[in-house]
Amino acid sequence: MFLWKRQRPEPVTRKVTMTKQVADGIITYSQSWHPNEGILILKGKSKKQQIIIEGLVVPPFSTHGPYYSGFPTYDLPFDLSYVGTAHSHPGGSNKPSLEDLNNYYGVVSIIISYPYDYSTTGAYDRNGKAMDLEIVDSI
Ligand SMILES: [Zn+2]
Repeated sequence: MFLWKRQRPEPVTRKVTMTKQVADGIITYSQSWHPNEGILILKGKSKKQQIIIEGLVVPPFSTHGPYYSGFPTYDLPFDLSYVGTAHSHPGGSNKPSLEDLNNYYGVVSIIISYPYDYSTTGAYDRNGKAMDLEIVDSI
């Protein structure tokens, strides 16, 4: 007997697009919290193959430390335009930590590491997989 499984289609990796204005906002915010982590909520649209980030929200009651940052999600208004979070890594790489993945919120996680510029900005999905990130002048 021979059994075989139908091949699963490759999961579609979504592309992340954000405006320069948003990217610069994340950079400035991260610099102002350095050497602690800064965290922001991303506002935008989530489509089938693309996530568009158009705005930033400073989360209420957020906490900041050198190795952690966070905010209570139960204090957030229910808002469908919240697509994820952005936070900074004052030291090391912009790869998500285990903690980051355990506390994943939304559909995209932007992580920016020191010295905070476009080249140290990464986008990750719920599984910690890097997503294509595009920074554009306007959408
Ligand atoms: Zn982190």
